Amino acid sequence: MKAISVLGSTGSIGTQTLEIAEAFPERFQVVALTAHRNLDLLLEQIVRHQPALVALADPADLPALRARLEGLEPARRPARPPELVGGTEGLCAAAAWAGAELVVAGIVGCAGLLPTLAAIEAGKDIALANKETLIAAGPVVLPALRASGARLLPADSEHSAIFQCLQGLPWPDQARLSTGQAPPGLRRILLTASGGAFRDWDPADLTKVTVADATSHPNWVMGRKITVDSATLMNKGLEVIEAHYLFGLDYDAIDIVIHPQSIIHSMVELADTSVLAQLGWPDMKLPILCCLSWPERLATPWPPLDLARLGSLTFREPEGARYPCMGLAYAAGRAGGTMPAVLNAANERAVALFLEERIPFLAIPALIEAVCERHAGDRRAQPSLDDVLAVDGWARQAVDEAAARLAAKAPAALTA
Ligand code: NDP
Repeated sequence: MKAISVLGSTGSIGTQTLEIAEAFPERFQVVALTAHRNLDLLLEQIVRHQPALVALADPADLPALRARLEGLEPARRPARPPELVGGTEGLCAAAAWAGAELVVAGIVGCAGLLPTLAAIEAGKDIALANKETLIAAGPVVLPALRASGARLLPADSEHSAIFQCLQGLPWPDQARLSTGQAPPGLRRILLTASGGAFRDWDPADLTKVTVADATSHPNWVMGRKITVDSATLMNKGLEVIEAHYLFGLDYDAIDIVIHPQSIIHSMVELADTSVLAQLGWPDMKLPILCCLSWPERLATPWPPLDLARLGSLTFREPEGARYPCMGLAYAAGRAGGTMPAVLNAANERAVALFLEERIPFLAIPALIEAVCERHAGDRRAQPSLDDVLAVDGWARQAVDEAAARLAAKAPAALTA
């Protein structure tokens, strides 16, 4: 029985993790949960999974949760009420909970950084969905992993695919990622991208994109932020940086290819030109299950892949002009140091402004570029955690300032 702590249990990754735990009750036991705003769903999860610890991001919500737990009808009340904790400290306690063997990092954005670091420092196995942690703080996370011996298991479907394809190579320890060195024989990574919601739109129409357009993904059902990131292709750009930190390859050896069917989840090219791929339906439950059960494979009743029914798998180059965020991410990754943290924070803030309908879709790359340019002279090559947190806060404020300047210059541009 593996005890798991689920950070971000009320989100898309979190709820799918809990579905898997319910499907394999003899294999997985949920011992800790964390959430932010969705108390209704969290309450249901507590009733079903009876965790020992529950953390809320906002400590001000703890009395409400406590009252709702006490108000449950006796038949639904947990046999042992969970310990309730709040704030960043509480999230970190759930991440480092002594009773958990594996931590699912499913909080969205840089809010996941400190809890994920707490899990690393506690030496846990970590199913990493929260890519923003590695992107913002790679130079801090890598040494922390080396010091604690914690293992990152990639839950992002692309990195899970790469991890699975690499299992045949002669590494000293096949579960030890983020060592800064590529496994012997790995020459190139090919990250597949669906192309997002606007892959077939006329670029001229991107001025008219609405929030509803940008939050409906053609292949995957995910949280709102990552769905917008898929539409801009920033998600793939962030994954390039994630792949660099996980698998140790230079940016020149990490390529993106548009694959509209999302059946091949990514590929690796080996030294002899052989290319290995991992295939499956676009369903995040598969990479999450791989993390939970690794190195074992569990039998599932899920529908098998039917290539004959699919008929064809197609590929094309991503167009730089349609997806400016892709170029911004490569540039930030190559600059390294604090620049990926600035890119990530600027993106999080710009996407939040877009989701609040305060800026148009095309302002997202424009604001990120302006903020990264402002940071170029101040970039720290070997940042500390405090440096990362400082530039994260600075970049969010810089996006707000740049958005305000844009609004003052061309108010129509911001409401178009
Ligand atoms: P969701 O928006 O669906 O869920 C986010 C989770 O984080 C929720 O539990 C939410 O709580 C919690 N949360 C939000 N803000 C905070 C905060 N400030 N402090 C603490 N907790 C917070 O996101 P996803 O599940 O889609 O994504 C989670 C992570 O996984 C992201 O990093 C994403 O890039 C990555 N990922 C997601 C994939 C997917 O298919 N969804 C695929 C690959 C990677 P609440 O709902 O209670 O407010």
